[in-house]
Amino acid sequence: MKTYFSETKGVLTVFIFVIAFFSCTKDDDTIQPDPANKEVTETKATEQDLNFANEADMQKAYGIIYRFKFVGDKAVLSKQFPIPDEHQDAGFATLEKNQAIADFVVKIIPEDLRGKLEYFYTFVGGTYGSPQGYADPFDRWTFKKWLIGIGSFLGDEPKDILEATFVHEYAHFLSLNSKQVNPIDQNTSICPDMELNLGEGCAKTDSFIKLFHDKFWKNIPVGDQTYCESHTEDFVSGYACSNYAEDFAETFTHFVFKPKPTTNTIADQKIKYLYTFPKLVEARNKIRPNIKFNKRVGSGI
Ligand SMILES: [Zn+2]
Repeated sequence: MKTYFSETKGVLTVFIFVIAFFSCTKDDDTIQPDPANKEVTETKATEQDLNFANEADMQKAYGIIYRFKFVGDKAVLSKQFPIPDEHQDAGFATLEKNQAIADFVVKIIPEDLRGKLEYFYTFVGGTYGSPQGYADPFDRWTFKKWLIGIGSFLGDEPKDILEATFVHEYAHFLSLNSKQVNPIDQNTSICPDMELNLGEGCAKTDSFIKLFHDKFWKNIPVGDQTYCESHTEDFVSGYACSNYAEDFAETFTHFVFKPKPTTNTIADQKIKYLYTFPKLVEARNKIRPNIKFNKRVGSGI
């Protein structure tokens, strides 16, 4: 839903309830959609008070089926959950398919951040070509440990669509983890002057999201559909216009999947801006060799 910024409950914004849907069609066999050109919409768990440190709640919200933990450079299955009756026949329910995406995930996360990702979950969800994903802090108020989940229905989507789903969620993790965001004062919900108030945390002065916000979102109305429709060239996708966090995640996905832009629209300027951060370039370099994007037609790469 594109209104999630305004769907708040007390001081709890739903800023980090991030479920992305990637659209493409099954019969598009010859010209595969470019994952970086996906159309994204977003929704969130219906019950906003769910405690995501409680797996029963998370399973209720997302229907998770496998939990992986990272041990060294391996993604190891640490728990299997009952498969919901309605998903017994879903192709993605097999451990083999879920292990494959978990193996991709562990390959692209740098060691210094691997410890911050508590678990990686998979679940059955979405429709063919439209896997879902979410990224949530394990502890809502510290942003120290994160959970990321990826859901698929058939599990045989083009591999890079699943990968693109993860890269989008990974961008949230990269930009909102505790190296980037300080805890907020829970009594006042106020951040120090130079930090960016995210609702549940304060983005540090030199954080990716704060700098991105200051450069591109100072005067952008959040959630203004009319504005978005009249400024499509300013955003890498329609969904990127939702808010600066989604714009960052979508821009990062394009930054990873595409060559450096040679034109200079505002959307291009955003992608080029990410090249000014060595850590993001490092992340891009780590992800790209593990993605099969170069087999795609029309990807421009
Ligand atoms: Zn998102």
